[in-house]
Amino acid sequence: MKWILFFGALIGSGICGREKCFGDQVFRINVRNGDEISKISQLVNSDNFKLSFWKSPSTFGHPVDILVPSVSLQPVRAFLKSQLLEYSVTIEDLQIYHEMDSIAQDFSGLVSRVKIGHSFENRSMYILKFSTGRGSQRPAIWLNAGIHSREWISQATAIWTARKIVTDYGKDPAITSILEKMDIFLLPVANPDGYVYTQTQDRLWRKSRSLNPGSSCIGTDLNRNWNVSFAGKGASDDPCSEAYHGTHANSEVEVKSVVDFIQKHRNFKCFIDLHSYSQLLMYPYGYTFNKAPDTKELDEVARRAAKALASLSGTEYRVGPISTTIYPASGSSTDWAYDNGIKYAFAFELRDTRHYGFLLPANQIIPTAEETWLGMKTIMEHVRDHLY
Ligand SMILES: [Zn+2]
Repeated sequence: MKWILFFGALIGSGICGREKCFGDQVFRINVRNGDEISKISQLVNSDNFKLSFWKSPSTFGHPVDILVPSVSLQPVRAFLKSQLLEYSVTIEDLQIYHEMDSIAQDFSGLVSRVKIGHSFENRSMYILKFSTGRGSQRPAIWLNAGIHSREWISQATAIWTARKIVTDYGKDPAITSILEKMDIFLLPVANPDGYVYTQTQDRLWRKSRSLNPGSSCIGTDLNRNWNVSFAGKGASDDPCSEAYHGTHANSEVEVKSVVDFIQKHRNFKCFIDLHSYSQLLMYPYGYTFNKAPDTKELDEVARRAAKALASLSGTEYRVGPISTTIYPASGSSTDWAYDNGIKYAFAFELRDTRHYGFLLPANQIIPTAEETWLGMKTIMEHVRDHLY
């Protein structure tokens, strides 16, 4: 029940739950004098914006925290700016951040929350690290979601997966043995600015929210920005395109943060990127029609994973290389992982095949996450048994 409510608020057509909306933010405002305190009190008490104090004004020099519902973000920002009040955003995306926090707190022996960087609009990028062992260089698996912000089933599946891992560890022999050998790193929201934008402005926004000098169009396709055959097939040099590759590889701080983390770690063996929609399970390459050297093994693993996925409720996936299974795409995360020594690199396109598309109804979220878990687990078991 809790999950249904959580995801109902996370992904359903009504974004708002009874108490709070996804996309709400907490603003921290520095108050320097009595005049500023009275301006803020008027703003909060006016009732126009449905604001509430999380931390009321006390004395000067102590910050005030205000919960700002997503619908009020723009007018409140404008008000603060017009009054020359300085503020920062302390908590964003309350539900996903709360869920990450509570998993890390409830299972502190197994999970930690790690900040790997920040987005263009300065939102923190957090990952959950699942680890049973000491040291920082154990063989590792990277699970990535939400690089395209409108593909909400991917972020939802990722956060469900986090809860699943901690619940099943010690009970399910598969995930238990995977974690005995390897660490799992999970990034549920790889494009935080885009995600907030889909919650507040444009449900179908795909790209980042970075500015493009010389163009009025916003954003780069974060899955064309990786340093692998950059600006090749299936990427656009037009900033107004949905597949704009950016000014140069890693120009987007969201991509660079992940790249830096993975390269510093140096022992990732598996990289799985979750997208939607189309029901595909793919492996490199996207940037060329040439076969990847490990095609035979990757195809065999992907077919077994797709079979495991289908075993739950019959959801059929097509399997194959990115370039021929969906379309040619250069500068993608999966190709980058593979060409940088992470052999077990896969990309899922989750439900559905067309009917709802990006607007998958809330009652399909948990069934999608459950079946996807079976597919991902099959891949991770193979990696566990074939460390290199
Ligand atoms: Zn995508």
